[in-house]
Formats: sequence, C-alpha cells, structure tokens
Amino acid sequence: MSKIQMKTPLVEMDGDEMTRVLWGWIKEMLIEPFVDLKTEYYDLGLKKRDETNDQITIDSANAAKKYGVAVKCATITPNAQRVEEYGLKEMWKSPNGTIRAILDGTVFRAPILVNGVRPTVRTWKKPITIARHAYGDVYKNTEAKIPGPGKAELVYTGEGGEEIRKTVFEFRGPGVLQGMYNLDESITSFAHSCFQYALSTKQDLWFSTKDTISKIYDHRFKDIFAELYEKEYREAFERAGITYFYTLIDDAVARVVRSEGGFIWACKNYDGDVMSDMIATAFGSLAMMTSVLVSPSGQYEYEAAHGTVTRHYYRYLKGEETSTNPVATIFAWSGALRKRGELDQLKDLQAFADRLEKAMLDTINSGTMTKDLALLYDGDAKAVTSREFLEEIAKRLQ
Ligand code: NAP
Ligand code: MG
Repeated sequence: MSKIQMKTPLVEMDGDEMTRVLWGWIKEMLIEPFVDLKTEYYDLGLKKRDETNDQITIDSANAAKKYGVAVKCATITPNAQRVEEYGLKEMWKSPNGTIRAILDGTVFRAPILVNGVRPTVRTWKKPITIARHAYGDVYKNTEAKIPGPGKAELVYTGEGGEEIRKTVFEFRGPGVLQGMYNLDESITSFAHSCFQYALSTKQDLWFSTKDTISKIYDHRFKDIFAELYEKEYREAFERAGITYFYTLIDDAVARVVRSEGGFIWACKNYDGDVMSDMIATAFGSLAMMTSVLVSPSGQYEYEAAHGTVTRHYYRYLKGEETSTNPVATIFAWSGALRKRGELDQLKDLQAFADRLEKAMLDTINSGTMTKDLALLYDGDAKAVTSREFLEEIAKRLQ
C-alpha cells in the first residue's frame, strides 16, 4: 500500500508524561503506517523547555505562524512541586499561555459525542461548542498584596502625557489588588473568529459577558461584537439561517442548561476556561473534547483539552498498563491533518482524517473503550488498555 503524501509539514509540539507516551503510540500505530508524515518537530517536554530557557516554546509558536497548522501534546505547567521534581532553573510559564500570546485568537472546544454516553443534562442532544477568547484579562494581570492602609489608584499615562486616574479603593487594612487589560484589536479578532466559525459550521452564536457590572470593560466586548455583526455579518447570518444572540452570562448559563445544544457559546477568557470544563464534564469527560486555537490571521493549533494525566503516568513508569483515553489527542491529530489537507488541497489526506475519526468512533460505538468511558457507558462496555484500544482502531483503519 502506498502512503498518503503531504506537501507542507505540520508543526509538531510534543509534550509530557502520559500524553507524551500516547503521542508516540498514536503516531506509530495510527498515522505513520498510512501517511508519509511530514512534521517540523518541537519538543515541549519540560526538560527541553528548561534546557532552552523556554525558547523552544517560542520557536514552536513562531513555526505555527509560519506553516499555519500545529498539533500540540499536553504539557506540564510547572508549579513549585514540579520545580523540585525536574530540578528546574525557573518556574516556566504555561506553554499554552505563551503560544496563545504569540498566535492570539480564539480557542474552540466541542465535545465528541458517542452512542451510549449520555450527557448529564438530559435535554442536550447536540454538542455545545465553547469559543474562548485566548488573550488578556486575568491571564495577563498585575497583582499586589496590599500590606495595610493606603490608596490604590488606576493610572494611565498616554504617550502625549495625558492622564487617566481613578481611585480603585482607599484601603484601611491589608488586602489584595489586581489590574488587567484587553485590546480592541484582540476583541475584534475574537469576534471575527466567532462569526466566521459560526458561519462555517452553520450554528447559532451566543455571546455573554457581565456588562451590567463591568460597565466599561465587559461592555466594550459587547459593543465590539454588536458593531461588527451589524457591519459585516448580519446579512450572511440571515442567509445561512443562523442567529447571533447576546445575553448576560447569568442568563446564558440558565439558557445553556435548558437548551438542546447545537450552538457556539463565545466566552471571555476566564469564563471560557471554566465553562469549557463544565461543558466537557457534563457531556462525558475532558478526554472527549476537541480543542483548536484559531488565530485571526488564519493559523490553527490543535490540542487535547485535558492535561498530561500524571497519575496514570506514574503507574505506567512502574510498568503497569494504563487505560488512558487517547480520543482527544487522536482528534488533535486528525483535525490538524484535515486542515493541512484543506490548505494544501490534498483530498486523500482529508479523507484519511475522516477515516481515522470514524474508525475510532466505530470502535467505541461497538463497545470497546478505555475505562473512563466504560464507567459512563449505558450497556455492555469492554474496558481495554490504551494500547489495546489503539490496536482496535488500527485494525479498523487497515
Ligand atoms: P489531567 O492531566 O487532565 O488529569 C486529571 C485527571 O482526570 C486524571 O488523573 C484522570 O483521572 C482524568 N483524566 C484526564 N485526562 C484523561 C484521559 N485522557 N484519560 C483518562 N483519564 C483522564 O489534569 P491534572 O492532573 O490536573 O494535571 C496534570 C498536568 O497536566 C499538570 O502538570 C498540568 O500543568 C498539566 N495540564 C496541561 C494542560 C495542557 O497542556 N493543555 C491542561 C491541563 C493541565 P483518574 O486519575 O481518576 O483516572
Ligand atoms: Mg481550565
């Protein structure tokens, strides 16, 4: 059998722990036998990030900018315990944060639905896609511990010397303080990504913020979306038979739970972080969620939404077989290969991505799955190890 050819390499961002192990197996068992895989490889494993003073992360993000499509394995975001465990020079920043700061854009996360795993919310029949703004706010905040009485102010000094000064609070005792920002440009590109994604997937778009309380900050998001919609998207939405709908985040939460699903819910950075975990868990698990970062200039980074599954990795190191769910990581690969195929007009590469996803879903729908899913499954499920699961998919692909 001749292998499917690629034109442009994928930017491959390898990662840590159990997901790094799965990464290798997925390539070896599900991709390389069928595709003449071309990648530009970046090792974002914590050891390499430490060796390169995190330059490798920056290089990988720039490569994603250059080539347009990247696929990323889950990575450790170090904390104090990891600094000790790996003997790190520094507590390096979250690679996802670094990559998002370079690419900008929006993270779209959608649950992967399979027969037999029913959403916790009974009314949900279709996936709910979370569109998370991946720039600024609390993720780029400046914070301070306030030691005691004193005045906290918000000060902006323009290049021409003009000043905006507002009192935040007159402290009478110790407390905490935080400042954060966002940019019209980033909010605008977030809005473009959301409107375009809604059009390309023919789903309604909801957007929610807390503009009643945050009358300037959140309100700016609401206004930018509204202006752009009227100016550039209303007609196309009407033609496509989809709607744009803005509401307060409290109202959105209530409506989401009462809905049937089948729409995109655009969220500010923090809301999207939290709500995507809620949506994923209620649909089944974080291991059954696709995640893609879409940058305003049309670059794509595909990843799994979950972490490196540390607990399973420690068992793996002791020689135990684990039943870690590789579905989200496989979808990261299939998503990236399909997008590469679209951009390079390689029909057989796109078709391979479809076949890979189908082989995996057929495997689960026929009752063979990893332990986490088997626990949620209605009916007779055969719980297998990660390798057995991948072997089963490979057999179907053959
Ligand atoms: P995690 O790796 O997502 O795992 C938390 C727990 O969820 C696991 O112990 C496991 O539960 C279950 N789980 C998650 N993914 C699973 C899968 N694919 N198959 C089966 N079970 C799965 O989160 P964490 O333990 O909080 O974080 C571990 C490391 O990942 C941290 O160093 C963190 O910095 C990093 N992280 C990276 C990313 C990213 O790169 N995108 C995101 C989040 C966290 P059981 O143990 O009960 O089976
Ligand atoms: Mg989160």
